[in-house]
Amino acid sequence: MKEFRADLHCHSHCSDGTLSPEELIKLAASIQLSGLSITDHDSVDAYTTAIPLSKTLGIELIPGAEFSSLHKDVSVHILAYAFDLKSQALQDFCLQHNRRRENRNREILGRLAKLGMIVTEDELNVTLPNTRRTIGRPHIAQIMMQKGYVKSVLEAFNKYLGEGKVCYASGESFSAEETLDVIKAAKGLSVIAHPHLINHERTLRDLIDMPFDGIECFYARFNKSQNQRWVHIAQTREWLMTGGSDFHGDIKPNIALGCSWVGEETFRELQRHYSTHC
Ligand code: AMP
Ligand code: ZN
Ligand code: FE
Ligand code: FE
Repeated sequence: MKEFRADLHCHSHCSDGTLSPEELIKLAASIQLSGLSITDHDSVDAYTTAIPLSKTLGIELIPGAEFSSLHKDVSVHILAYAFDLKSQALQDFCLQHNRRRENRNREILGRLAKLGMIVTEDELNVTLPNTRRTIGRPHIAQIMMQKGYVKSVLEAFNKYLGEGKVCYASGESFSAEETLDVIKAAKGLSVIAHPHLINHERTLRDLIDMPFDGIECFYARFNKSQNQRWVHIAQTREWLMTGGSDFHGDIKPNIALGCSWVGEETFRELQRHYSTHC
């Protein structure tokens, strides 16, 4: 019998992944994953097409999303799981993020233009049929690469788009607390995403005191010792230990779907929460 593996963190082209939700589900089936959560940035649009196909291909799907927030000027990503996809509060929140991003992207494009790197809003706002799309810095980075301003997405981030770099703009933002409130209103579970990427100890300490339900302990290609700190936090708080690849497709070619995952116990706990509350 195949081992139960569920990747709880990946992105489709509804945000900054390169595969469609259908392609993601097919890939998950082809690498023998049993469960999946598609966690697009500030969007749940993937689920419209992902749900019917997951049923056909026998992939168990749990609602997910990754929300951008700002805690005392530090960027914090918050994963939401097992929420009611029809929640009006959550749908409205995604729309608000969409508007926030339009203004912020405009600001970033303005900064790039000042340095002679022209990326137009039309080039950026490529729409997908019947799908709203979360557009962010990785899309800008890709166009910069296509136009020869940088050699790679990484170079675009390291030189211009990364937090604190010359063309970075945080734009308006939602706090971690506001984000937790929305996830709660949608009856979901909140998880601190990739805690190792939070370089500020104070931010981490603040987050650990907030009413989260879990922390992402298994991420991308981490080894066991790198995870120990997060596992310890989860154990002392009695939080869920989640995990996933943070697969983005071609935009991050070194990260494979399923390279990090959780077992059946964690997945069933999310499912239980979903069937009890949603
Ligand atoms: P945004 O949502 O516009 O703030 O962009 C955030 C996304 O950009 C993250 O989820 C990553 O996919 C990507 N990203 C952030 N920092 C970097 C980096 N230094 N190098 C490559 N990709 C990055
Ligand atoms: Zn991303
Ligand atoms: Fe993230
Ligand atoms: Fe992510």
